Amino acid sequence: MGETYVGVDVGGTKVLAVRLSAAGVLEATATRPMPGVSAGPDAVEEAVALAARDVYAAGAPAALGVSAAGLVDATGERFLFGAHLPWRDAPVRRSIERRLEQMERGSGGGAPSGGPRGPNPRVVLDNDANCAAYAELVAGAARGVRSALLITIGTGIGGAVVLDGRVIRGAHGLAGEFGHMQAVPDGLACECGLRGCWEQYCSGRALERVTRVALGRHLDGPEVTALALAGDQVALHSFASIGTWLGVGTAALVSAFDPEVVVVGGGVSAVGDLLLGPARRALAGSLQGTAYRSVPELVPAGLGPEAGAIGAALLARDGRS
Ligand SMILES: [Zn+2]
Repeated sequence: MGETYVGVDVGGTKVLAVRLSAAGVLEATATRPMPGVSAGPDAVEEAVALAARDVYAAGAPAALGVSAAGLVDATGERFLFGAHLPWRDAPVRRSIERRLEQMERGSGGGAPSGGPRGPNPRVVLDNDANCAAYAELVAGAARGVRSALLITIGTGIGGAVVLDGRVIRGAHGLAGEFGHMQAVPDGLACECGLRGCWEQYCSGRALERVTRVALGRHLDGPEVTALALAGDQVALHSFASIGTWLGVGTAALVSAFDPEVVVVGGGVSAVGDLLLGPARRALAGSLQGTAYRSVPELVPAGLGPEAGAIGAALLARDGRS
C-alpha cells in the first residue's frame, strides 16, 4: 500500500478526519463529537488523535494535518485563539504529535488493523480557512488558478488569500480574517467587541436577524434556506440582503488583492445563486473601471464540509509553505 495522508478538522461541534492517498484521493472519513470548551485541551487533543486513528490504513500516515477554527501563528506551532476551542496561545502542533506518539506506544505499536507499524506521522497545523482554501486550490473550485480568495459564510465569515499559488498568512499568521473588517462605522455590535463588522451583515446570524426583523419571529438558518428554495419572498429578500453585503465586501477585497476567482463556501452558501446572484450584481456595481477590467468570477466552493480536513491532509503532504 502506498503512503497515505490524514487531515483532521477541529470545529466547534465535531472533529472530522479524512484519509487521502498520495494522489489526493479521499479514501476514508470519520467523525467524533467535539468535547466542549469546558472539557479542556487534553480532551480535545484526545478526540483529534482518536478521530485520526479512526481513518488510519494499515499503518500510520506519512504526515497528518490539523485544521483548526481560530487563529494559528505564522510558524504553525501555536494555536492563539478560537472562540469555540479551548486552546489559548498553546503549542498545539507539538501536543498533538506527542499525543499520537503516546497512543502508538500504548497500543503496542500496532496499527488498528494489526498491520505493519509506520513511523509516527509529522503533524502540520493551520487555520481552517487556510486549509479549505488550499483544498479548493488543489482539488476544488480554484483548481488551476494562481490567485484566489476564499470566503466561507457560516455562523460568521472565514477567509483566506491565495496569491501566486501560495496561501498568504501574513506577518503573524493572521491574514484573511475578513469577517471583522469594519463594513459600517458605528454599526451593529459584534461578538468580537467591535462594531459594524462585515459578518454582522453577511453571515448565518445576519440571515436570521434580517428574517426576524421582516417576519417578527425567529427562524434558524436552515429554515430560512428551505423557505428561500421554495420561493418564499421574505426568505429570498433575506438572502438578497446578505448577498448584497457579500458583493460589497468582496469588492473591497478584490480591489486589494486582484484575484482571478472568489470561491464562496460555508453552510449559508448552499443556496447557490440565490446568494451569489445578488452578490455578483453588488460586486460589479462596487468596483472601479468595470468597463476596462475583468471582474473576478464569484463561484461556489467545489468541496463540501470536508474541505478543511482535506486541505489539512494536502498541506501535510505538500508542506506548509
Ligand atoms: Zn467583529
